[in-house]
Amino acid sequence: MKVVLASDNPGKLAELTSLLADTGFVCVSQGEFGVSSAEETGSTFVENALLKARHAALSTGLCAIADDSGLAVDHLNGAPGVHSARYSGAGATDEDNRQCLLTALAGVPIDQRTAQFHSVVVYLRHGEDPVPIICHGHWSGSIALTPRGSGGFGYDSLFLADGCSKTAAELTADIKNSLSHRAQALASLVRVLRCQGNRTKGE
Ligand code: IMP
Repeated sequence: MKVVLASDNPGKLAELTSLLADTGFVCVSQGEFGVSSAEETGSTFVENALLKARHAALSTGLCAIADDSGLAVDHLNGAPGVHSARYSGAGATDEDNRQCLLTALAGVPIDQRTAQFHSVVVYLRHGEDPVPIICHGHWSGSIALTPRGSGGFGYDSLFLADGCSKTAAELTADIKNSLSHRAQALASLVRVLRCQGNRTKGE
């Protein structure tokens, strides 16, 4: 089934496409339909993921999958949270945001730098679907003192997953995709969709 992916972030699109590879979905990014980004005006990952999925589904007439994700740092009361993509201001680059985070945590010892990546994935059968499927995944770790690694995107080079001596940017794409918040949210979504498909078939 053809599904539109409601994201313009190349790093995220690569992960979503790879994570959905064996599910039977034919994934097309919203950019390929000329659909622009939805405004993320919500104050939670759930609200923003719904806004993005609805915008993509209404604009294309297809079913849609959106992910809204970000980093929540305990010492910063959950910041940057829903503002992760623009933590250092409008038009911020990943590098700007990482610098901003390191500045906010200057002098904070490693044992107080705990953080989690969160991903909320929303699936809409169509733009006015009143029963969206909403799944959440998280990945726990801490924020390194300095960036390391060149893979991934966003805050990966600062994120040390629990029990792992490498940052997320030092992991291979396959390993990151087996552990990450987005992988867990999408795995839940696939389970729910399979379950609903089986119920429809009367199994
Ligand atoms: P969104 O497009 O509003 O969901 O922005 C999510 C932002 O959170 C990204 O731009 C990154 O800064 C950050 N983020 C989300 N997932 C990841 C990840 O897997 N690695 C690194 N940063 C991430």
